[in-house]
Formats: sequence, structure tokens, C-alpha cells
Amino acid sequence: MTDTSADISELREIHRFLSIIQDINVGVIVVDTNYIVRVWNSFMEVNSGILGIKINGKCLFDVFPEIRKSWLYDKITEATTLNTPVFNSWRQHKEIFHFPNNRPFTGRTMEMRQNFTIIPLSNLDGKIDEVLIMIYDVTDEACAEINLEKANSQLLKSSITDGLTGLYNRKHWENCLSEAYDLFRRNKEPVTLLMFDIDHFKSINDTYGHQAGDTVLKRLSQVVKKQIRNTDVAGRYGGEEFTIILRDANRESSFYVAERLRHAIESQVVEYNNPKAGGIQVIRFTISIGVCTLSIPAMPNYGDWLKKADNALYFSKEHGRNRTTEYGLNDTEETMNIEIQRPVIKKRDN
Ligand code: GH3
Ligand code: MG
Ligand code: MG
Repeated sequence: MTDTSADISELREIHRFLSIIQDINVGVIVVDTNYIVRVWNSFMEVNSGILGIKINGKCLFDVFPEIRKSWLYDKITEATTLNTPVFNSWRQHKEIFHFPNNRPFTGRTMEMRQNFTIIPLSNLDGKIDEVLIMIYDVTDEACAEINLEKANSQLLKSSITDGLTGLYNRKHWENCLSEAYDLFRRNKEPVTLLMFDIDHFKSINDTYGHQAGDTVLKRLSQVVKKQIRNTDVAGRYGGEEFTIILRDANRESSFYVAERLRHAIESQVVEYNNPKAGGIQVIRFTISIGVCTLSIPAMPNYGDWLKKADNALYFSKEHGRNRTTEYGLNDTEETMNIEIQRPVIKKRDN
């Protein structure tokens, strides 16, 4: 082989490598120690809209001022100091370059998510004077993961939520009750249980229909959500029976909350459209409440606490409905009795 044909063969080889680097579907950038761009392939051109001939010789941070300089500096320093590739996932830092997502139908992400690797490059003397940055478009993978996380959290939410009312379901609420009981044993901060039940709900169903009954249950839960604090825990315990754990609430404040809730419910006017019955039907409803502030050892487990609140609720039902009964303890803690601690503010009409 002559010298000339050897040169041509080498040139072809170099040309082949350059074509691969140019056309590969990965961002390829080479910058020197002053962040001056030396290589910028077509992936970078297409996604940034900046041609290689325009950016080569310029400082990366001057052209992309939005790149977090100190963060990229740390990554490049790590790669050059340890003389080892440094990898970064989109989960740690979602992107280096702010490129649009060019697959708008694949997910919610508006920008391209990027993994990248920084590889130190040595010159002929063995000195590291440049780094290769490879950018991988992982938008599809990121979208799939984000969608999976969303689906998982929806699944988790629906596994603990009552579908009709949006309050916690009984199983999850009981777990919260058990936790509240254990917490009280440790921190002794007062905690109170409210248990309430719609009065004569069967007759609401019978009079207006089951769907109207469902509308009443939804309205009740909306009122409950408005009346309680973020730290309180409300649940649907049974068909038309509800429960609330009032955190950091003693007997007096809990009774006040219960009465406020009872009045808020009493003042509701549900307008239910029933064409079969000739149009809008107006439904009013009331609740009976049992209140029980946790006391140990009088209530040796959370089931006992629940039972006492239920007893108080039963007392409200037995004594006219639409009222609040507080479960009371005598001076001698072991003796328990149920009594109406406050006068009933307003009586039911029927
Ligand atoms: P009380 O004042 O003693 O509580 O009387 P009540 O009629 O409310 O109690 P009862 O236990 O006799 O009836 C409860 C009714 O609640 C019967 C049941 O069909 C109805 N119910 C339970 N779950 C639902 C539901 O999800 N939707 C509707 N619409 N009704 C329900
Ligand atoms: Mg009822
Ligand atoms: Mg009931």
C-alpha cells in the first residue's frame, strides 16, 4: 500500500467515526477546562437549535446561562479529579439543557428529561484537558415512571378512601384510631373521638329515594371537611355513621366542636332534583353525636374508647336525637357513666 492510499484509508476511518458521533441519537459535547465547546453533534443542534459552527469556540455558560454553573462544575471536577466517568440520572437532576419534549403525546412532561455521563478525556501527554458530556433523552422512561407513581398514589388513595364521601374508609380510619391511641400513651396530649349518625336516615331514603340519600351523605362529608382541622381525622365508619379523631382536643373544646358540627348540619338545605317527584325536593337532616375524650387506664384499648363514644351516641339517640352526649368519668377514674353534660340547644321539630 502506498503512503497516499494509507492516508486515504485513515481519512475514511476518521470520517466514519465523525459520522457516527454526528448522527448518533445521543447528545455529544466536548468542552475544555474553561468550558469552551469543542464538539457539538447533530443531536445537540436539533434539540437546541444552535449549530455546531456557531457554538464551537464559545463558553457553554455564555450560550446557556440557565445551566446551574456550580452544580455542573462540581460534576466535571469530580470526573476530572478522580479520572472516572460520572453519571447523573434525571431523578437527581431532571436536565442539563432545557430542551422541549418532542413527543407531546407520551406523557405529562413538557421538557425533555435527560440522563448524562461526563467522561474525562486525556490529551497525547496523558493530561486531562477536556471532558465528553453525553446526554441521553429519557423522556419516555421518565413519563412511564411518573405515570406509574401517579397510578400507585391513586391506588393507595382509593384503598384508604370511601368512594361516596371522600372521607377515610373504616379500615384506614381504624388504623388511625389505633395510632392516635398509642400516641396518647406516649405524649398524653388530649385526644377526643366523635361518633355520629344521621337521624332517621332510613326515612330520608324512603321518602326521597336512595340517590337523594347519597346526596345527603356527600353534603354531610363536605360539611365535616370544612368544620375540622387538617390534623383531625374523619372517616365513614358505616353506612350513615361517621367518626372523627380530634387531635389535641380536650373535653370542653371537643364538645364545642361537636355542637358546632351539629348546628352546621342542622342548617343544611339539600336541594335534590327529582323530575319524577315534580322537580326540586328540599331535604333537611340532623345528626346525633357521641363524644369521648381518651382516658387511660379507664379505656385499656382503642376498641374500648370507640365503644364508649358509641355508647354516648346511643344515649343521644335514646334521648331525642339531634343532640350531643359526652361520655363522662367520675372523680374516681374507674367509675364510668354516660350523661348529657350540656343542655340541648335546639330540639328537633318532629
Ligand atoms: P336512627 O335515627 O336511629 O339512626 O335511624 P336511621 O333510620 O338513621 O337508622 P337505620 O339503621 O334504621 O337506617 C339506616 C339506613 O341507612 C338504612 C340504609 O339503607 C341506609 N344506608 C346505609 N348506607 C347507605 C348509603 O350508602 N346510601 C344511602 N342512600 N343509604 C344508606
Ligand atoms: Mg341513622
Ligand atoms: Mg346507623
